[in-house]
Amino acid sequence: MTPLPSLSLSTPSPSTCLWTPRGSPYPLTSLASGTCPSPSGPSIPWSRPPSCPDPPNKHIGGDHPDDCIFTYPTFRNGQGISIITFPSIAASLAESLDDGIVPDSVKNFPSSPQAPSHLQHKKAYTVKDIPGRGKGVILTRDAARHERMLTGHPVLLVRFDFLSSERFGSDLIQEMLEEAVSALPEETQKAIEGLARGKKGKQGWVADVIKTNGYGGMDVEGVGHIALFLDGSRVNHGCRPTVFWRYNAKTMTMEMVAVRDLKAGEEIVHTYIPLGYTLQERELMLKVWGFKCSCSLCSASPQETAASDDRRERLFEIHQTLTSATQEASLPRERIDAIVREASALIGLEGLDPLVEYMFVFARAYMSINEVALARKYTQLAEAKLRLYEGEDSANNSVPMQMLWRELKELEKEIDEDEW
Ligand SMILES: [Zn+2]
Repeated sequence: MTPLPSLSLSTPSPSTCLWTPRGSPYPLTSLASGTCPSPSGPSIPWSRPPSCPDPPNKHIGGDHPDDCIFTYPTFRNGQGISIITFPSIAASLAESLDDGIVPDSVKNFPSSPQAPSHLQHKKAYTVKDIPGRGKGVILTRDAARHERMLTGHPVLLVRFDFLSSERFGSDLIQEMLEEAVSALPEETQKAIEGLARGKKGKQGWVADVIKTNGYGGMDVEGVGHIALFLDGSRVNHGCRPTVFWRYNAKTMTMEMVAVRDLKAGEEIVHTYIPLGYTLQERELMLKVWGFKCSCSLCSASPQETAASDDRRERLFEIHQTLTSATQEASLPRERIDAIVREASALIGLEGLDPLVEYMFVFARAYMSINEVALARKYTQLAEAKLRLYEGEDSANNSVPMQMLWRELKELEKEIDEDEW
């Protein structure tokens, strides 16, 4: 039994969740730095003045600005957005709030609020009741592997630490969250109310909606935020996901991409936890979300779940073996080939294609024995997968990716020099 790698389960802030041994729990969101205007930059498009209540416990939490509510009701063709964050961070979003920044490929996508009405009817999915599991998103047609299934923009964006801020205290936090929702266009308010469990208007209902439906790890100016989407929030958890989501911080666009070929009638599910863990480990992590998973993998027969667990354990073992062998350059080429083949087969069997991390490990293993061509192949694969699963922006700004390229280029240079 491999020990559970240490994970920060309660705080999905970008700094703690960027890179775990079994893949990144949240997309490696990265802000296209340098593209944001400074806080004192162009005028901010808020259509109502920010609401900045005075925190009752100002002595707690140090000397930083306080969170305010910023609302932009015309955002994305009138969907609207409310943001609770520091004023300087809200100001940095000015460019992203402009509808003109959204590329046509996103604008004209059927689930986009900006799509012309004849396209909106062409969504590939429908939201409906699933017995015993509340609502879920079901495909209405077949879909191809790597096809985009759903796009969306946040309706709420909240600084993650605000949600538990002792400086504000829970009463004022609830009030501010409700104010943020009530400032939105009516149709959007109704859609958010539709996400609430039990009766709306119940004390703390907005915080509950965010906790159960929010997407963590949204990095804005290096500060973690949590985002709420409408259709995106209807997508349930599955330990063997059929889709993976990526986020473009610059255009504030979330997209869900099919992990494999999908059939009409299948539910689209994404994973709320990092990929690749065993049943017991997943149960432990999903406790944070307050439910016991009944996905096809968790509810399979004991033989099937045991076989899946074995494959996942083995994959993790391979990760460790290759990582330490890379440091010592202790494995011969044939052995690395065999291990890479085995791991690739396991990844395929377990549907873990988005675990880009393994491509890094393979590339470095080949670098350790100066097999440059193979190292380059896996470096390129890592980049292609990052682009696909984490999005263009994240791939371009990924520090681990830049490091891998640098290592490869240094090795190529060294070998070149030796040959001369
Ligand atoms: Zn499950």
